[in-house]
Amino acid sequence: MAVLPAVQFREPRVPFSGDMPAPGTRELAGSRLGCPDPGALKPALAELSTAFGERLSLAPATREQHANTTTWLANEPPDAVVYPSSATEVQSIVRVCAAHGVPVIPFGAGTSLEGQVNAPFGGVSIDFRDMNRVLAVHAQDLDCVVEPGVTRKQLNAFLRDQGLFFPIDPGADASLGGMTATRCSGTNAVRYGTMKDNVLALKAVLANGEMITTARRARKSSAGYDLTRLLVGSEGTLAVITEITLKLHGIPEAIAGGICPFPSVEAACEATIATIQTGIPVARIELLDALQVKAVNAYSHLTLPERPLLCLEFHGSEQSVVEQSRRFDEIAGDLGGGPFEWATKAEDRSRLWQARHDAYWAALALRPGAKAIATDVCVPISRLAECVTATQQDIIASRLVAPIVGHVGDGNFHLSLVLDMADDDEVRRAEGLLERLVERALDMDGTCTGEHGVGQGKMKYLPAEHGEGTLGAMRALKLALDPQNILNPGKIISLG
Ligand SMILES: Cc1cc2nc3c(=O)[nH]c(=O)nc-3n(C[C@H](O)[C@H](O)[C@H](O)COP(=O)(O)OP(=O)(O)OC[C@H]3O[C@@H](n4cnc5c(N)ncnc54)[C@H](O)[C@@H]3O)c2cc1C
Repeated sequence: MAVLPAVQFREPRVPFSGDMPAPGTRELAGSRLGCPDPGALKPALAELSTAFGERLSLAPATREQHANTTTWLANEPPDAVVYPSSATEVQSIVRVCAAHGVPVIPFGAGTSLEGQVNAPFGGVSIDFRDMNRVLAVHAQDLDCVVEPGVTRKQLNAFLRDQGLFFPIDPGADASLGGMTATRCSGTNAVRYGTMKDNVLALKAVLANGEMITTARRARKSSAGYDLTRLLVGSEGTLAVITEITLKLHGIPEAIAGGICPFPSVEAACEATIATIQTGIPVARIELLDALQVKAVNAYSHLTLPERPLLCLEFHGSEQSVVEQSRRFDEIAGDLGGGPFEWATKAEDRSRLWQARHDAYWAALALRPGAKAIATDVCVPISRLAECVTATQQDIIASRLVAPIVGHVGDGNFHLSLVLDMADDDEVRRAEGLLERLVERALDMDGTCTGEHGVGQGKMKYLPAEHGEGTLGAMRALKLALDPQNILNPGKIISLG
């Protein structure tokens, strides 16, 4: 049996005060601030250590790696990290934590951008690294069943020989558990949808340790509440996902794509709007503003024209991709864009899309020593050009470095604010820009996040987006499923 390493308990992150629960009482973590009580944590960790031995880590570096590392939110490490290898082990971890009122924070690849994996009240991070098996591929039904630790690239490498693929592609090689939990998307969403459209069923552990299955493999079902979609995007706050059934797609017979420069971001957005409105079934249509193109050229050693650029891809039969490309070319020409340059070789296309996926790192490299803060909003497509153009003007007026990229076919775009965090005035200007960005998107009937999720960073915008009635319903759901608030507390909605 492994010996429990000496546990260093930290001070509660927020000191207990008169109106807060005394240590030892079981209050809602994150509402009246039940910081995990050191008295509760110690026996919980002792039990987990007995069960998991060296698969439980208390090492400070490991704990820090399991908290937020991607953005400007503080790194708030969990008290321990545990590596289960089966759903039964996940159940046992949740049961131990529930018995002691200790928070549980599921962890996939840690690439989320809004502080989702932070542990503001401490607790135990469940890392799905070792639950990375593809359990079944049902080629005839175009679906597969995976454990949550499988990453999107691993799944596609596994599927390639069968002529199938899974299309959702966030820039990072994220885990399918994390992708499900953040309801993420990527460059292919305009054609294939987001995680909300591609998850058929889930197995998940509830806060009391019970295992549920949300649906069968049938493509359609009207059998009761749609718990699959409730858990997709719940960011680990309602249940811990242990198995995911995903829709798959056939690798298209033909893929064509290329790049098309435009005189302005507005013209590129107008071309996107026209492409979508005329029903061209484009598979990818991505905007890079001139600064982002410059960054990508330098980072990925490319020679793209340093003007607002659309990167496109069309999927279908040989004939249909030629037809789609021709129709797009006409739209682009009408808006002053072009020439539309085809990337005929598969290697050239892969290089282009890898460069697009590396846009965040390319932006960061624009300013050595700076921090890149990636944020996203999404608006109805008819408002896209207006929203992106106003945001670009705001960036200039705010004297900030913030290249724009976007999955613009969905009305979704991102800013990567490249900031000198030591410059308080610059940070204040960046905060102001982000507030106005969200306000602008909401004024256009959009959302404060199209795909990165809420985590800690966007909690403050939910009252404006949803209103108190809707937030009240979300709170009721949360408390019904997790009455102790042990599942990823302090994320999405405040219970206080
Ligand atoms: C360079 C870069 C580019 C990116 N590009 C995109 C993009 O194009 N589109 C996009 O949508 N996102 C993008 N992201 C954000 C990120 O990749 C996604 O949010 C992704 O879905 C996170 O997956 P993950 O495995 O890293 O999850 P993590 O960061 O580990 O976790 C995210 C959330 O999911 C929860 N979670 C993880 N596993 C489980 C589980 N098994 N059960 C329950 N909850 C769980 C966690 O508790 C946390 O709340 C990008 C990030 C980076 C760094």
